[in-house]
Amino acid sequence: MYLKNSKTVVIKIGSSLLIDGKSVIRKKWLEEFSKDVKELLNQKKNVIVVSSGAIALGCKKLNINKKNLKLDKSQAIASIGQIELMNLFKKTFNKNKINLSQMLLTLEDTERRGRAINAKRTFDNLFKLGYVPIVNENDSTATTEIKYGDNDRLASRVAQISSADCLILLSDVSGLYSKNPKIFKDAKLISEINDINSTIKKISTKGISQLGSGGMETKIEAAKICQNSGCTMAIADGLKFRPIKRINTYNNCTWFLPKVSKLHARKKWIISSVSPKGEIIIDDGAVTALEKGKSLLAAGIKKVNGNFNKGDHIKVLNKDLKEYARGLSSFSSDEIRKIQGLHSNKIKDTLGYVSKSEVIHKDDMVEV
Ligand code: GLU
Repeated sequence: MYLKNSKTVVIKIGSSLLIDGKSVIRKKWLEEFSKDVKELLNQKKNVIVVSSGAIALGCKKLNINKKNLKLDKSQAIASIGQIELMNLFKKTFNKNKINLSQMLLTLEDTERRGRAINAKRTFDNLFKLGYVPIVNENDSTATTEIKYGDNDRLASRVAQISSADCLILLSDVSGLYSKNPKIFKDAKLISEINDINSTIKKISTKGISQLGSGGMETKIEAAKICQNSGCTMAIADGLKFRPIKRINTYNNCTWFLPKVSKLHARKKWIISSVSPKGEIIIDDGAVTALEKGKSLLAAGIKKVNGNFNKGDHIKVLNKDLKEYARGLSSFSSDEIRKIQGLHSNKIKDTLGYVSKSEVIHKDDMVEV
């Protein structure tokens, strides 16, 4: 149900789904998974796939053991493996005529507002072009201190940035159980979780802790990020063929329900930014456009106060200097000074480079 009602879906697939314990690539599985993606696209959904496997495929290519790899070596191996990973995806997804793009993100791309906005725009444009972005961490440059290290949390940030409605973490576990299912026969799969902390307190950690094994900890961290971003998240078993279809049919997974609405989360994200860096004064025509839910264009801008960078948090004032909205600027103050009052089709010639057409995109603006 949650999946059916979603417009934008992020699916994370772990290395163990792509490569089995004997280092054999699970080609047939990926082929079946591509049918799942095709079905989502046919339902007019936007899809992002966050895929691990660069290091595993790099190790396979070089015939070396993944265990005890030093960081510098793993960076080189990820660089070798990433192209293998994309080739594998491209070959397989081609069969279903799915257009793919690659996005390699670092921690900074998701944590720094200006860069996160850029990433969001790229996702939006890829959706418009009908492409499915395959995302991974940029393991070749990320070092331990500035690294996610796991694609669970990366996927939850990607879901947040892309304003996704649903994130599915496919791995080799069916979800969160009341007890360790490997030890206790009466362990029950928890189907829906509203309050993560109180649920986890109730889970028996006797024997091998469910939370400590199989990477459940990072999945819970991802769920917390999703809960606060208005995104519904599932942990589901991805090992069998057509995992997404299986979720739709059997719902055999754990769903984490969001605490806040998506819009509220995004607005909070914008409003809770550090103090605004500048102001834009707009004319009545622009106020009318904003009232209709449109983006702010250069044509309606009369004046800019302060110095700010692209991505900074700024105030939007009406001609009586009353604060009308707040938002994240797609241009620096210097750029806006050059393009204020101009029609959007003049921006490129004036600045001398291609840029966005909105000064503040509607998704990045909150009326006050
Ligand atoms: N980015 C890593 C890779 O592609 C995987 C991280 C993870 O397993 O979560 O190998």
